[in-house]
Amino acid sequence: MARLIFLGPPGAGKGTQAQIVAARLGIPHISTGDILRHAVAQKTALGVQAQDYMDRGALVPDQLLEAMIEERLRQPDTQSGWLLDGYPRTLPQAVYLDTLLSLLGQPYDRALNLEVGDETLVGRLLSRGRRDDTEPVIRHRLQVYRDQTAPLIDFYQQRHHLLEVNGDQELDLVTQSLLTALSAAGLSVPSTP
Ligand code: AMP
Repeated sequence: MARLIFLGPPGAGKGTQAQIVAARLGIPHISTGDILRHAVAQKTALGVQAQDYMDRGALVPDQLLEAMIEERLRQPDTQSGWLLDGYPRTLPQAVYLDTLLSLLGQPYDRALNLEVGDETLVGRLLSRGRRDDTEPVIRHRLQVYRDQTAPLIDFYQQRHHLLEVNGDQELDLVTQSLLTALSAAGLSVPSTP
């Protein structure tokens, strides 16, 4: 059982690593970006409201995500734990999440931060080819990250719940570093995939 929050700039390989680590720990990978993209594709009320922000590389307003994340964390599969990827992304979201998790009786164990230098990020994002991965949108997303999301590193550090991992390595080594950090923090990591 583990409840984990994944932080890191866009292009850090957060989504890929989140998926691998969640599978390894046997917990659901909850990506707010994936949920939102699904809502956009289905043209739900949330999707219609979120689309324009996403296309611009802007953050979807905090209030639009609150019901969505609460609904997701109330699904039965979260009893085994979860890995949150892409949420929280602002300080108000982090504060909301703290309140929601105490309400649900699901305190998080650790926040993980994947550190990657700026030069690596733009190159990785450009090679990904997603519809919101054009260069001006990427630059905007990095700026939004610096302004709004990077302060979360301090937020979790102050709570002594932050684990920092070097994301600027080969994919397998990043996974290994993440699992080692979790295990060193006392979380149980199954030895075979
Ligand atoms: P991601 O797949 O995590 O890169 O998210 C893709 C896009 O979805 C972001 O650029 C935002 O527009 C939106 N998004 C995802 N998660 C959040 C969040 N926690 N807060 C605001 N917007 C979000």
